[in-house]
This record gives sequence, structure tokens and C-alpha cells, in this order.
Amino acid sequence: MYDYLIAGAGLFGAVFAHEAAARGKTCLVIDKRPHIAGNIYTETINGVIVHKYGAHIFHTNDKTVWDYINRFAEFNNYINSPIARYKDELYNLPFNMNTFNKMWGVKTPAEAMAVIEKQRAEAGGAGGGAIGVTEPKNLEEQALFLVGRDIYEKLIKGYTEKQWGMECTELPAFIIKRLPLRFIYDNNYFNDRYQGVPVGGYTRIVEKLLSDSEVKLNTDYVDFSKKNERIAEKIVYTGAIDEFFGYCHGALEYRSLRFETEEFAEENHQGAAVVNYTDRSVPYTRVIEHKHFEFGGQPNTVVTREYPVAWKKGLEPYYPVNNEKNNALYLKYKEMADKRPDVIFGGRLGRYRYYDMDTVIAKALDVEKSEL
Ligand code: UDP
Repeated sequence: MYDYLIAGAGLFGAVFAHEAAARGKTCLVIDKRPHIAGNIYTETINGVIVHKYGAHIFHTNDKTVWDYINRFAEFNNYINSPIARYKDELYNLPFNMNTFNKMWGVKTPAEAMAVIEKQRAEAGGAGGGAIGVTEPKNLEEQALFLVGRDIYEKLIKGYTEKQWGMECTELPAFIIKRLPLRFIYDNNYFNDRYQGVPVGGYTRIVEKLLSDSEVKLNTDYVDFSKKNERIAEKIVYTGAIDEFFGYCHGALEYRSLRFETEEFAEENHQGAAVVNYTDRSVPYTRVIEHKHFEFGGQPNTVVTREYPVAWKKGLEPYYPVNNEKNNALYLKYKEMADKRPDVIFGGRLGRYRYYDMDTVIAKALDVEKSEL
């Protein structure tokens, strides 16, 4: 008998386990995968630390979270500044004066704002009457309002529709608000005060977090809990909430990813850690050259192409699709979850929220505090 059975050895489960163990609680952490760390899992391939489930750059404004994670790793000073490639044109991201200069030749913030203002007005006139007047109803309206038609067409529309498998008019506006928009020459993808990539990779952090818990890999929660009904006082569940309840109200939608990783016998393949392919005709969204996350000087390099794919049962869910329909469905599951004081739901899948790593840590610390 354990105090907690924790389903999922990702960031939420591991932070919770660490805090619970520190307070003398016993935890059994299970994960269906053959490794810990969930989607922040990193693995070394010929001397290069590879982000196996997509690029993870840690960034936060929360000093408590930053101090907490720094107890388990040293962070380097990597600043994410991806390149967007549209056909043969290259642009800096996020949308800033470098992007505007390349796109329009403008040199001052006032010139850039004037172009955006003009395109915003045109978009408003051409069927998008509400743009800038009422709250944007969808991602397309939001993007046109923020950056105008040219940037929307070249850098947002194709990428977003590949990423989500839906039209921008069907997607919630908040997704594009994740990206900063600035009228200074600054290619930092995030606005947060603290940023970096852990030296040695993320898996080591999770190893440390789980060092006082028992861990069982290759163990699926559904099977395991049937066979071990009374193994713990309480359950911390970080899998998909609809799966937990047997999809009784229907399946929530997720977006999945497929990765193709290739090694090259060259030192520097693309000159950046992250290149976004924003043209819809290219089937992948991003190409990651992992060594640049850690300023690697190896003679070889490892590169991963990221292909968004439709999620279906059996595939890994990566992103919740937080449109109105799914959010309403989630609320039905949330109602059921609220009637289960024996289960704590956490993480991106347990809460059906597009959380970043720092929020996951903050939530795990909060839950743990109120719990213990
Ligand atoms: N996005 C875009 N063009 C880009 C990068 C991002 O239109 O070159 C949009 C797209 O809709 C994406 C959203 O911004 O889903 C959030 O991007 P972010 O990089 O935060 O996504 P994540 O790293 O979480 O996959």
C-alpha cells in the first residue's frame, strides 16, 4: 500500500512525487512508456542531446518555479530565436522589427505600425468587418488584427493549418497570442524573464525528481489499476482525462506528432536550433537541429523533422485542441473528476490545457501544497 499511485512519469507526476516523498509519503509512479520524463524526455545520440518528443525550451516569469527547477539542473543561456522559412524567404521570429524590415523594407517602428494598420483596415473591409472592433472570434481574425495580411499569409496561415489540421477560422484566437509581437529589433521568442535549456538534458531532472519514489515502466494505468485496486490511498492521474473515464462522453480531440530523425556527418546543418516551415506545401512544421540548444561543437549533428498528424486512439496525444466544442466536452469530464476526491488530475492531458512546462510545475506545487 502506497500513499500515492502516480500515473505518468512526466513533469507533473515527477514534481508531485518529489514533493510528496520529501514529506515522507510513499509514491509508486507508473508509466506506459519504456522511459521516464514523458514528452520532455531527452536521449543522447552520438554525443548530441536529442529532444525526442519535440523541442523544449524552458521559460518562465515565475521566480519560484525558476528557483525550483534550478535545484535539479544547471540551465544554459540558450535563447530561442527560431527562423521562419516561407518558400525561399527567411524571416526572424517572433514578429518583430527584423521580421517587418525583411517583409516590407520598413526601418522604424512607426513605418511598421503604419503598414500593419493599413492591412488591418483592408482586412476589416474585405469580409472581416469585425477586425479590431470587437473581440477576435478566431485565430485568423486575431492574426490579421495583430500583424496584418502579409505576415498572416506567409508566416502564420500555412504553419497553423498544418499544425492543427484545421482552418485558422476554426481555431481559437488564444493560440496565436502565445507569440510575442514587438516593435523592437529583438528575436527572443519568449517574453519571460528566465529562459534556458538544462545542461545534460531534461531526463536527468526527472530522474532526480523521482529518486525517492518507486518507478514501474511499461505499465499502463488502465490494466494496472484493475489488477491493483487498493494499492494506494490516492491516485495522481496525468494521462488523458477522457481515457480515464472510458471516453464515456466521447473522445476529446488532440493533435499528434510524428518525428523523423536523421544524423549528418557535418558540423552545422541549418545554422539554427529551430527552423519553422511556414509554407503549407512542406509537410513538416519544424526542423530541429538539437546541438544548437547546447552550443554543441561535435563534428556530427542530429536533425529532427516534426510532422503534425491527426490523433486517433493508440497514438500519443500532444496538444489539446481547445476549441469550444472540446472545451464543452472537457467540462463534462471535469464534472466527473470533481466527484472523485480520490483522484488528482494534472498536466496537459489530465487538465486538457495547452500548458507550458513552467505552468505544469507551478500547478504540481500548488496541488501538492493543498494536498499535504
Ligand atoms: N505559429 C505560426 N507560425 C510560426 C510559429 C507559430 O503561425 O512560425 C502559430 C501556430 O498557430 C502555433 C502557435 O503559433 O500553433 C503557437 O506556436 P508555439 O511555437 O508556441 O507552439 P509549440 O512550440 O507549443 O508547438
